Amino acid sequence: MPWYKKLHWQIIIGLVLGLLYGVLAAAQGWGQFTSDWIAPFGQIFFRLLLLIAVPLVLASLITGVASLSDLKKLSRIGGKTIAIYIGTTVIALIIGLVLVNVLNPGGSVPEEMREKLQMTFADQAEAGLENAAASAERGPLQPIVDMIPNNFFEAARSNRNMLQVVFFAIFAGIGLLMIPKDKAKPLLEFFDSLNDLIIKLVEIIMIFAPIGVFGLLADTITSIAGDDLGQILELLGALGFYAIVVILGLAIHMTLTYGSMMKFLTPRKISDFWKALGPAQLVAFSTSSSGATLPITMERCENNLGVSEEVSSFVLPLGATINMDGTALYQAVAAVFIAQTIGMELDLTAQITIVFTAVLASIGTAAVPGAGIIMLVIILEAVGVPIAGIALILGVDRILDMCRTVTNVTGDATVATVVAASEGQLRDIPA
Ligand code: ASP
Repeated sequence: MPWYKKLHWQIIIGLVLGLLYGVLAAAQGWGQFTSDWIAPFGQIFFRLLLLIAVPLVLASLITGVASLSDLKKLSRIGGKTIAIYIGTTVIALIIGLVLVNVLNPGGSVPEEMREKLQMTFADQAEAGLENAAASAERGPLQPIVDMIPNNFFEAARSNRNMLQVVFFAIFAGIGLLMIPKDKAKPLLEFFDSLNDLIIKLVEIIMIFAPIGVFGLLADTITSIAGDDLGQILELLGALGFYAIVVILGLAIHMTLTYGSMMKFLTPRKISDFWKALGPAQLVAFSTSSSGATLPITMERCENNLGVSEEVSSFVLPLGATINMDGTALYQAVAAVFIAQTIGMELDLTAQITIVFTAVLASIGTAAVPGAGIIMLVIILEAVGVPIAGIALILGVDRILDMCRTVTNVTGDATVATVVAASEGQLRDIPA
């Protein structure tokens, strides 16, 4: 097959063209034309992916849990998965904290720029403050209460409630393991067939991925820049160092942590892993949503990485909702950066508090664009950094959201491969 017919190349071309178009559109003042005629193609692609995310989580987790044949196997695979998810998140946080403390990006933001950023983004930060007020009144066990839906349809109504759908699916899967096999069969067959249907829908949607990615990128660039490209450059001048620290941390975590897991815990070659996961990473980058990317992550893991359906249908939907290494790393860097910018010292206890709260916050972060910065409020509160400081980092958040989502998705796929290898459920992949 010629290279340009391969899906990941087509998506890369869409992405690069979207980027170039976005810059041109911002320079020429084509903002309105872009949002009327280009952005909708990106939105249609994004909505199609999100449309199948909730049914996919439901069907794959119910069949995933029920196919584990007994509760002992479920607790073994479940325990292993959650332990690795939390372990990798803690490593990501440590990488982020070491980098931000050593490189001190907050020390380089000039006083007048700080005031300007705070003024420009004050309104948007206000929204975060309202959330903060609500979260301040919550008791310590509230996150667990929130995980349990009181109405299934209410939970399935919003992509932000994916954790509640995950809870219901695992609960129902366990129930199916406990009732007589002949009674469970019709429901299992139903969800199995739903699963197959969704995989087919993913294949259809992916035909449009290059155009979708083009539209998403063009829209993102023009909406960040408005019709004034100079504004982006000024922002990057002030926040560029902070953004580089986040991106450097993500890159280190992906190459060192995931790379060594792949090398030492699985028979997969690192290059094969990147090649297989490429299209999912590119879609994660363009959509900023690990929930929307989940159907593609699953498809790539099963068909191109050799992960068994039994493992992928349990590990990946769970990971997309609770495992967010990229988000946690970013939250740690952002919290310390804000403290540094306003001249606040965070001691070792505060930094350890960041690790604990960020692990919890990343579990609760919805797999949708911009969710990470909302949960950042909880971390800032825990260490006493003023929440209004969020205004400082809002300007570059979308770019960092794109990058951290790639890490989130890569982390889920790495863990799925490791768990599959440890269970003897990693097939050979075609050369
Ligand atoms: N957009 C990220 C995701 O979906 C979450 C975040 O905002 O950090 O994985």
